[in-house]
Amino acid sequence: MWMRLIHQRDRERQGIGFNQIESPFFAVSRVREALLSRRDEFLGLNDFLLAHGRSRGQLTYDVIERILTTVKDGDWLLVCSDPFSPLSEDTTGNYSRIGVRCRVESWDYPLVASADQRKPPLPKTELVASPLPQERSNMAQQFAIKAKASDVLSDEPATLTAITVNDRAAMRETIIRLARKNGHEFVERSSWGAQEVKGEMVDDWDYSMIALHHAGRSVGCGFGAGQMLAIQSEHQAKFDDIGYHYGIDCMGKVFEGRDIRFKGSSVHNYNTGVIGIVLLENLTTAEEGGDMVSIARQALETMHGNMDQEIPAVQIDALLNLIQALTSVFRVTTLGGHREFPMQAGEGKICPGNIGMDLVRVLRIKTQLMQPPSS
Ligand SMILES: [Zn+2]
Repeated sequence: MWMRLIHQRDRERQGIGFNQIESPFFAVSRVREALLSRRDEFLGLNDFLLAHGRSRGQLTYDVIERILTTVKDGDWLLVCSDPFSPLSEDTTGNYSRIGVRCRVESWDYPLVASADQRKPPLPKTELVASPLPQERSNMAQQFAIKAKASDVLSDEPATLTAITVNDRAAMRETIIRLARKNGHEFVERSSWGAQEVKGEMVDDWDYSMIALHHAGRSVGCGFGAGQMLAIQSEHQAKFDDIGYHYGIDCMGKVFEGRDIRFKGSSVHNYNTGVIGIVLLENLTTAEEGGDMVSIARQALETMHGNMDQEIPAVQIDALLNLIQALTSVFRVTTLGGHREFPMQAGEGKICPGNIGMDLVRVLRIKTQLMQPPSS
C-alpha cells in the first residue's frame, strides 16, 4: 500500500477524493509509526516536518505527539491506496470545515462491523459495562444522532467527544476486525465456549502497556480453544475470569480472553492500563526456575538433546498483527515480558521464559515500543 501526506488545502487542487483519505483517527498512528521507525518513509513526510519547523534528526516523543495533532484535526491528510476507514465514510461531522459531508443516515459507521459481518448479540456477560440496554444494531443510529448534533453546532470548534461505553463496544469490534485483517483467524469468547464471568468486572480502558506471557512450564503447543478453557477454569479459582485479554496458539489463531473493556489479571499488582497477551506454550529454557521441574527437564535434555520450544513463525506473525491492531486503537507505549514488570513473584519471575524474552526484545525493536518501568 502506498501512502502520502498532504496539507488539506492541496487536496482539491490535486483532485484527491475523500474516499482516498484515511480517517484521521487511523492516520495518526500510521504517521506516528513512520516518524518513529525511520524506515517507513512515505511522500510528504518531510514537507510535513518542515511545515512544523522540524527535521528527522530532532524528533522526541513529545514533539511527535505535538505535531501529530494537525493530523488528528485533519489539517494534514493521509492519502492511501487502500484506506482502512476513508474520510468519505465519516459520520463524526468533525471535518465539515474541509468539506467532508457527514454520512448521518449511514449504517456503516467505520467502527461498526458492516451488516454482513454483524454477529448475533453478545452474551449477557459481555454487556456488563453497558448501562444502556440497546441492541448493538442500534449503535450506528446512536452515532448518527451524535454526529447530527455536532453538525448543528458547527460554529463551535469541532472536538472529538469523550469515549462512551458504547464507543468501547465498537472499539472492541474494531480490534477484532483489525486482528483479522491480514488473514489471521480471531476467535471470540463465545466461539471457544468461554464460561461466564463469575462476578462484577472492573472497567479499564486507557491502555498504555502490553504484557506478554507464556502459558507455563508444563504446557506444550496444542489446540487453542481447549487451552483457553483450561486456563480460564484455572484462573477462575482466583479471579472472576481468565486473566489474559488475548491468547495465541501455535497455529497462529488469536483467541479473545477477558473482554478488553475490563481490567486484566495477568501481572501481579500491575494490571491497570495493561493488556495481557499469552502465547499458548512453554517458552522457558531447561535451566529456568532452578527447581524440580527444571532439574527433571535438564535430565531429559542430557538424554534427548535440546528440547527448547521454537516459536512458530505463524504465531509471531499473528502476535505482531495483534500488537499493531492494539497500538492503532490505544496509545500503547510499552511492551514487556511479564517478568519485566516491577515486583513479580513465583512463576511471574520466569514468565514468558528466556525464549519468550528473546521474542519480546525483537518485537520492541520492530514496534518501537519501550521496556516497562523498573519500579
Ligand atoms: Zn505471565
